[in-house]
Amino acid sequence: MTQYSPQWPEYAAIFGLGSIIGSFLNVVIHRLPKGKSLAYPASHCPNCKRPVRPWENIPLLSFILLRGKCAGCKSPISWRYPAVEAVTGALFALILWKTGWRIELPIYLLMTALLIALSAIDIATMRLPNALTLTGAIGAIVLTLVLRTHFWLDMILGAVVGFGLLYLMGLIGSLLFRKETLGLGDVKLAGMIGLFIGPAYTAGMYLIGIFLGGLVGGGLILAGGKKWGEKIPFGPYLAAGSIVSLVWGEKLWRWYIGLAFR
Ligand SMILES: [Zn+2]
Repeated sequence: MTQYSPQWPEYAAIFGLGSIIGSFLNVVIHRLPKGKSLAYPASHCPNCKRPVRPWENIPLLSFILLRGKCAGCKSPISWRYPAVEAVTGALFALILWKTGWRIELPIYLLMTALLIALSAIDIATMRLPNALTLTGAIGAIVLTLVLRTHFWLDMILGAVVGFGLLYLMGLIGSLLFRKETLGLGDVKLAGMIGLFIGPAYTAGMYLIGIFLGGLVGGGLILAGGKKWGEKIPFGPYLAAGSIVSLVWGEKLWRWYIGLAFR
């Protein structure tokens, strides 16, 4: 059986869909940690309170047309808004490239959207809100059962590997440093990811996430920005680890096996 591979108009369409969802993620990222409503009030300029007109709310395009400034008071709009839209669009296209139009696609796209919002909130506030991790966990279970994508045991094992291993690491960290090094939010996030991608990709997420976290964290310690044992937001590394594991996990694994058994 030859597998149909998507063509560029399909990638453009899923990039567009991703940027629209990214635009909504911006609202989640800015309002959820403050406990504000996601629906009300409508988007407005934080400086002059001018409401954002519909044509100024087109993902990416409006930012370019407005040259990054509010149409009313000309105060600069944060580059984070188009960045979140562009990253969401690009990752959606990347996931489509990996899976094609398979039934798992909506599951992986939902996870990607959640991971972008959670990473941005973790970087800004050092918190991973339950409102997102627990809703995401429920979303993963419901979608998996409705779409009948993989065996339910795979999902449970994924959650056990995700939740259990990180809980154990947190415990070891607390014993080593005699203080909490990993938040419970990280453990819940890893459990949520496990539900979405199953045990094998979750194991890959750890290896890649810890590698990335060690690389960046080690760099920050060497540069003097952080102290050894100081708490860092681990969510973005778990998020990046799970995407890399999902997209390139098999390739990395074959490369590693090739190195080990030459
Ligand atoms: Zn303004």
